[in-house]
Amino acid sequence: MCAFYTDSMTHKRTALLALASLSLCKTASAQSILGFTPASATHEIEIENKFKSIPNADEERRQHRIFTQEPHIAGSKRNKELADYIAAEWKKQGLEDVIIHRYDVYGTNPKSASLEMIAPTHYQALLREKPLPGDDDSKNPAISGAWLGMSISGEVTAPVIYAHSGNPEDYDLLRKNGISVKGKIVLVRYSNPYSYRGFKALTAQREGAAAMLVYSDPQEDGYKKGKVDPEGPWGPEYHIQRGAITYDFMVPGDPQTPGWASVRGAKRIPIEEAVSAPKIMALPLSWHDARPLLENMDGPVAPKDWQGGLPFEYHFGGDRVKAHLKIEMDNGIQPYYVVEGRIRGSDLSDEWVVMGNHRDAWVFGGVDPSSGTASMMELTRALGELKTQGMRPRRTLIVCSWDGEEVGLTGSTEWGEQFADELRAKAVAYINVDEATSGPNFHGQAVASLAPMLEETTRSLQDPSRKTLYKVWKETVERERKEGQQSGQFNASGASNQTLADTRIGSGSDHTVFLNFIGVPVLGLGFDGDYGVYHSAYDDFYWMNHFGDPGYKYHTLMSQLWGITALRLANADLLPFDFATYASNIRQFVNDMAAETIFKNRDDFDLSAKYAKEHAADAKQVVPKSTYEIRGLDLSKVRKEIDDFEVAGKNLNESLNHRLSSGPLDPKLAATLNSGMMQVERNWLNPDGIPGRPWFKHILYGARFTYAHLELPGLTEAVEKQDWPAAKQQAEILERALHNNTQLLDELNRRLGPQ
Ligand SMILES: [Zn+2]
Repeated sequence: MCAFYTDSMTHKRTALLALASLSLCKTASAQSILGFTPASATHEIEIENKFKSIPNADEERRQHRIFTQEPHIAGSKRNKELADYIAAEWKKQGLEDVIIHRYDVYGTNPKSASLEMIAPTHYQALLREKPLPGDDDSKNPAISGAWLGMSISGEVTAPVIYAHSGNPEDYDLLRKNGISVKGKIVLVRYSNPYSYRGFKALTAQREGAAAMLVYSDPQEDGYKKGKVDPEGPWGPEYHIQRGAITYDFMVPGDPQTPGWASVRGAKRIPIEEAVSAPKIMALPLSWHDARPLLENMDGPVAPKDWQGGLPFEYHFGGDRVKAHLKIEMDNGIQPYYVVEGRIRGSDLSDEWVVMGNHRDAWVFGGVDPSSGTASMMELTRALGELKTQGMRPRRTLIVCSWDGEEVGLTGSTEWGEQFADELRAKAVAYINVDEATSGPNFHGQAVASLAPMLEETTRSLQDPSRKTLYKVWKETVERERKEGQQSGQFNASGASNQTLADTRIGSGSDHTVFLNFIGVPVLGLGFDGDYGVYHSAYDDFYWMNHFGDPGYKYHTLMSQLWGITALRLANADLLPFDFATYASNIRQFVNDMAAETIFKNRDDFDLSAKYAKEHAADAKQVVPKSTYEIRGLDLSKVRKEIDDFEVAGKNLNESLNHRLSSGPLDPKLAATLNSGMMQVERNWLNPDGIPGRPWFKHILYGARFTYAHLELPGLTEAVEKQDWPAAKQQAEILERALHNNTQLLDELNRRLGPQ
């Protein structure tokens, strides 16, 4: 039986490919890959098989040990040593044009911090993590105490108020209970629900709090979840989640060079004028240190969803608990280093496939990011070996080790800003890996046009359980979607996705500059699992070897997957973009926006369907979202443009597949088609950016201040504010971009000629 059929039966392009495959099936070894002619696909499979055989678990473990040996925070001596190490290794491995870029940025380092409860009793917070039996790294004297990047220095003595998760609605509830946090210290917890700690800091700052303490409640990542380190993967009593509080949801990178690179001599704005620089003191706490504060609080009993995992009743707080907090920071200019290497393309060297992972870690960075860095070193070793054996990719592969991701996505942002023009002209895609491995569950992210190619790629890899990675991924996603539905989460992330790949991409890692500032399609790869030691000193080599990936099998699989995804993009005859899938995703974004807006604001919106408002709750289940309309904004033109874009995308898929199946391509035609397809993502950018955040230029993809994904950011935010003139303007920008891209696809289709 022709392998082709079984492999691609469920794929969207099946019917067309099936036709095309009639001729393919004549040769026994015929394989099909999106974007490849039959002959190129056969050749590609040979290359991939060779590639897959190179990464091995022992090497992954050896590299992982090198990166987790010592703490290596952004800007530290050790992190520079690791940059030099990577550069030297890459040269040995056969990478070309290896270079270390230096950016002089506004960095952040701790000097000292102390917290003491002065009433009703005295308690001096440890602000340190105790060593764990069996884990020698946890004894390392170089481990930092508690600190948050970009906190300001200061000193305050004030009452402590418990503000739950530190989100705006939490302060509303405190207000309703007659509690003001002005001039006080707020104690918030990390993730109930999750929101980025920088958003918590901004919210506390806006509320007029003098300082924010943020702690890890055992409910979320500790003993309430399961066994804690060193017996299990969850966070022990003393673990401290460090992190930065930079307002990089406003503008990422160096706060003093918003929108341009911090190269030597670059113009710098005063830090007081930098919108992404916080103006509040902030410190993280283990639950061990938070407990005495919480336990002694007076004031009304906090509501049920504010209660946590500690064995007492949580109160809002009043005047009873007072604390003295002092933080001294060393914030100022320091160098960050980005390592870049490449393998120049054999015949399309001016088309780039870019890959990256950050190097800086809060402490050892067992998962975050050293699992990704180890996988990257095996990826580059394998790519170098292919090159040495004469298998140079057709397009140029660029790989980067970013610095200062943890501080504000800094290294990647500065690099992206420095090379923005070149990237706009040359970049095919960016593949990001951050926390590569914290367990066995695969999650892939992709802009919608690349979702099918990512799914197809996972079919050619085997998971350690010996099923295809595709199958395991599908099972994971199906399980999670079911759990999401059961827990009653309306439109839980991905619940209405039509793809396995998560096409709703927020911020919080190094893909941001590529997608949101330059308009480069992005992919993100990661394996995850139970992980309660994030950003603590216990996220280390011991943890990885006992819980995360004891055999380093998932690290190895990551190197394979990362490489094969890159090789397919680098070697394709025609770039494997699927714009019909993009169109149907955009339609879903619009429908979800309309539906969510309606359910959030029942009184202000109507269902255009026959359903009366009082039935809206039932309607949630049964009314197709496509029938939701927002009163005050006519979306019919947007919908029509999406339909047109989808038709153009389908037509192009057909023509491309037909052309690919009929043998070698004229290089000039291929070049025209490829550069046209690369242009589509750029066309989603609005040079003015989204209202209030000009750095974020993508009109389909954005992020909330919490880092959560936010589709159609300009439009959605205007609709949520019920600012109808602004919403109309944003809808028109979307219509125009859709229209331009439809015309572009139609033009490419014409170039392909009659089929
Ligand atoms: Zn990370």
